Amino acid sequence: MSKKKLGTNTICTHVGEIKDEQFKGAISPIYLSTSYEFDNVDIKRYPRYFNTPNQEHLAKKIAALEHAEDALIFASGMAAISHMFLAFLQKGDHLVVQNTLYGGTSNFIREQFPKYGIEYTFTDGCHVSDFEAAIQANTKLIHIETPSNPLLTITDIKAVANLAKTKGIISSIDNTFASPINQNPIDFGIDLVMHSATKYLGGHSDILAGAVAGSKDHIKRIWNVSISLGGSLSDFTVWMLERSMKTLALRVRAQTKNAKKLAEFLENHSAIAKVNYPGLKSHPDYKLAKSQMHDFGGMMSFELVEGIDAMTFQKQLHLIKSSMSLAGIESTMLLPSETSHALLTQDQRDAVGISNQLIRFSVGIESFKDLKSDIAQALSKTKTTSFA
Ligand code: PLP
Repeated sequence: MSKKKLGTNTICTHVGEIKDEQFKGAISPIYLSTSYEFDNVDIKRYPRYFNTPNQEHLAKKIAALEHAEDALIFASGMAAISHMFLAFLQKGDHLVVQNTLYGGTSNFIREQFPKYGIEYTFTDGCHVSDFEAAIQANTKLIHIETPSNPLLTITDIKAVANLAKTKGIISSIDNTFASPINQNPIDFGIDLVMHSATKYLGGHSDILAGAVAGSKDHIKRIWNVSISLGGSLSDFTVWMLERSMKTLALRVRAQTKNAKKLAEFLENHSAIAKVNYPGLKSHPDYKLAKSQMHDFGGMMSFELVEGIDAMTFQKQLHLIKSSMSLAGIESTMLLPSETSHALLTQDQRDAVGISNQLIRFSVGIESFKDLKSDIAQALSKTKTTSFA
């Protein structure tokens, strides 16, 4: 059976599993060896070469889910991003990147690129015209993030991919927030798709990992650089990631279902000034999101009205945890200004619209009614006279 014809849940469960020929066990065996027989002919297996049995097999699952030819698994999302950037950019090259972006990526570019002599431009917005205006003669890579962390802005994937193709530029996307269940950018012409697998792919807040998927040629180019940079993932964690990904579609669909209802609830609450969720008709790019996402995902952010202290609100939550990371099966909230985007200056945060009232909400798989009542009780306790 061709992999293209398999359903998403079947890919999650079975593609890339290692058959246990010896004992006929139901799940993939784990190969922890860091030393393999040297036969002088075959591939030289070594964990830093991304080619142990578990690494190679899990890469097949990720590639299949992203409709890609090949994939590599990394020790973190930042390892995936940095290895990918450094594979396609060298001294004198230029990167165009959108301004609404995960803080760690933005920080990596601003802090490290000058040391390598790589130039960059952050766009003014995330319309295709913003990307076009930022392109220079030496632009080699355009990187987008949609939906973006934490503002859930939407970038037109097809338009940016086409723009890059016509100019002979490589395009890449951070697909972490959507996950391959809700968005497959390669279908729209994007060259490289990366994930912080720490998030939805892992899904249980117990794995740090990353991945990049793309054509065989592009992945080979990344591999050539990555074996020197050394950001591969240990086989035990690769095995845990395989186990987690079996339920990826089930989890993400349940999270998405909850998120849609909670976004509506929040939008209608008088203590909430604004909800950023691509599945709401009030989102400025609702139609675009609908056209390029299979569904709208489990992430959103919202602004509390002035007069409610965001930290006090968070402390009143009983069920929803305050957490640095996201996309686990448990619901979490955090203040981007204090965490994911704390490395940016106040001016940089103001420029992209990350206010101190903004809360990022990663919706879990708990019962909707319990999540709703947790938020309602926390808001009622932090209520001020400024809203009814
Ligand atoms: N990309 C996005 C959208 C993220 O949210 C994060 C982490 O929060 C990363 C990349 C970096 O991933 P990691 O923490 O696994 O290095």
